[in-house]
Amino acid sequence: MKIYKFGGASVKDAEGVRNVANIISQEKNNEILVVISAMGKTTNALETLVNATFKNEKSASDVLQAIIQSHNELLAELFQENAFIWINEVRNLFLELECLIDNENLKDDYDFLYDQIVSYGELISTRIVSAYLISQNIQNQWIDARNFIITDSRYRDAKVQWEETEKVVSNRLKPLSAKNLIITQGFIGKGEKGETTTLGREGSDYSAAIFGKILGAESVTIWKDVAGVMNADPKKFDNTVLISELSYNDAIELAYYGASVIHPKTIQPLKASNIPLFVKSFLNPSEPGTKVSDDSQPLSVPCKIHKSNQIMLEISTKDFNFIVEEHLKQIFEALSQYKVRAHIMQNSAIHFRCVIDNKENKHMPLIEHLGSMGLNIHIIENLDLLSVYQPIESSRDEMKQFGNIIMQQNMGNAAHYVIQK
Ligand code: ASP
Ligand code: MG
Repeated sequence: MKIYKFGGASVKDAEGVRNVANIISQEKNNEILVVISAMGKTTNALETLVNATFKNEKSASDVLQAIIQSHNELLAELFQENAFIWINEVRNLFLELECLIDNENLKDDYDFLYDQIVSYGELISTRIVSAYLISQNIQNQWIDARNFIITDSRYRDAKVQWEETEKVVSNRLKPLSAKNLIITQGFIGKGEKGETTTLGREGSDYSAAIFGKILGAESVTIWKDVAGVMNADPKKFDNTVLISELSYNDAIELAYYGASVIHPKTIQPLKASNIPLFVKSFLNPSEPGTKVSDDSQPLSVPCKIHKSNQIMLEISTKDFNFIVEEHLKQIFEALSQYKVRAHIMQNSAIHFRCVIDNKENKHMPLIEHLGSMGLNIHIIENLDLLSVYQPIESSRDEMKQFGNIIMQQNMGNAAHYVIQK
């Protein structure tokens, strides 16, 4: 059995859907489970819808109508005069969304509302792709991933309950997937009360890995609009090259520091079961792309990762006493409580510094909390974090082109630079 995962860019328009159908059709006689994301930028549009709905803004219904309209255009192009036969289920999903945004009872908890609304992106896209495949005589079984990916109820960042997920996937999905081509959603799951949850933005890769691990897949393939994993983002660096082989550990490190091709949680389940991961281009399906596995060669080129929109918190005591263990304990407890991840940390006599994502709704409560404990917090803004693996001697000079290096950390074969623009 193979797992294929197609991201939003692969199904952004009718031509994309036809291309995806073509790639799937090559495997139609083999066991295959296909995970598909929301189409194009639908998830972003649904996020706008959540914001407008939460704030009771009139624009919510316009935002929703625009989402419906763009899907309708795609349906019309895909199915032409037969569209009405296929779009029944999709229409019903639109209707459910309309009812959701009118439902006053759902508007108390932003994160809960988010999961209930944003999950529709994948429900709609998978219904459309499944129907299109059937219209092309490619039989398949659409399944609702929420019956299989069982999570806790931490909305927007739900944690998979492995035991329950394993049980239901093995008992219910495995027999089905042995006989049918399965089309399902990434990113979404079912929480403790049976409600919809999501695994965090770009979480569909992770869903594919979960299905792959439990179903004992021979491989998982993530189809992207890039040739595979590159050693750096070609939009930001010159002379980038494709990495044809990557170890699980290197892939985990790169994903952790922000290489956006692979979702950070994806590798762990695959590594545990030694299932190779392929990252391939849906535009050039016959190209080999990147293989992530245990039998890969060590990285032979430096990999560079650029994470923008960072800030540094410079924390000191009010009277500039030494930062001691007690302060560190308070700081780490607060980071954990407010779920803020410190990408880079550094401690000196009177300062603790950490670099975090610039997300106001997350760091402002953290800062207030630290302030209430008698700590001073100075925020340094407009930062980027650049990470280089297998750093070459000249990497520091190269990084200077992005701004002033205000912090540097070397760890084993990696160097991290915090840069002020
Ligand atoms: N559609 C979701 C997102 O854009 C999940 C995914 O694409 O992996 O974040
Ligand atoms: Mg997406």
